[in-house]
Amino acid sequence: MNTPSTLITGRCTLVGAGPGDPELLTVKAVKAIQAATVLLVDDLVNDAVLQAYARPGARIVHVGKRGGCKSTPQAFIERLMITAVREGETVVRLKGGDPFIFGRGGEEVEHLRDAGIECAVVNGITAGLAAVTSLGVPLTHRDHAQGVVFVTGHAKTGAGAAEDPTDWRALAATAHNARLTLVIYMGVSGAGHIERELLHGLPGDTPVAVVQHASLPHQRHLVTTLQGLQARIAEAGLASPAVIVVGDVLQGLAAAALQPGDAGRFGT
Ligand code: SAH
Repeated sequence: MNTPSTLITGRCTLVGAGPGDPELLTVKAVKAIQAATVLLVDDLVNDAVLQAYARPGARIVHVGKRGGCKSTPQAFIERLMITAVREGETVVRLKGGDPFIFGRGGEEVEHLRDAGIECAVVNGITAGLAAVTSLGVPLTHRDHAQGVVFVTGHAKTGAGAAEDPTDWRALAATAHNARLTLVIYMGVSGAGHIERELLHGLPGDTPVAVVQHASLPHQRHLVTTLQGLQARIAEAGLASPAVIVVGDVLQGLAAAALQPGDAGRFGT
């Protein structure tokens, strides 16, 4: 670990840009973006956020897939942040949703701390929250769900990965017994596996919603049951970025989706 340097004049803030709608940013996030001289931006951040709030002349570096290369290596992003702070810049690391929900925010804070830089963190509205709210459904409900689990459908693999990826069967049993809503991020490409595994602990008719591009004008969603999940995703052509929501809080929505002439089938 490096010795913290007293010469550091720049600042660094990890900022949650929310799910897409620029009006869903916090006031703190807006102020941090407006103050930034350097912005390192993930690919799930809506460009409209930068257009609305970044100061003219700020250096904007896209470090996600849309930035050009396939995906900027994490170590490179962290080096960029450290260098910019040491050069006296006011650095904002802008991440989709909340920086501490599946955003590697924790890893970045640790690496900066190791370099002697304390990073402030500003919350954002995480995609799962925005997704269910856009359907008019609560995540918890005294009659249906006593809690919520945010879980990734795409656990780290390869060197340094957890020995067991997500134990979906155990999770399904717990969700069933404890009446929990599951909010699955990065789960669309693995939906077949997730569906099969969850069916070991949850009934096939458990309602499920998939919401793509939550909070954006081109948002789409579908409502189905657990046993139809993968087939319906394929049929509707929904893809990343999307969240899968599983649980009885969706009962009302699922019942409405079964009505003839259902307008919400694939959402709009
Ligand atoms: N930190 C982010 C999550 C990053 S992981 C957050 O708090 O929201 C990336 C995953 O988030 C995507 O694969 C998708 O599952 C989800 N996601 C991000 N933005 C989304 C959006 N607008 N609509 C639906 N899902 C989204």
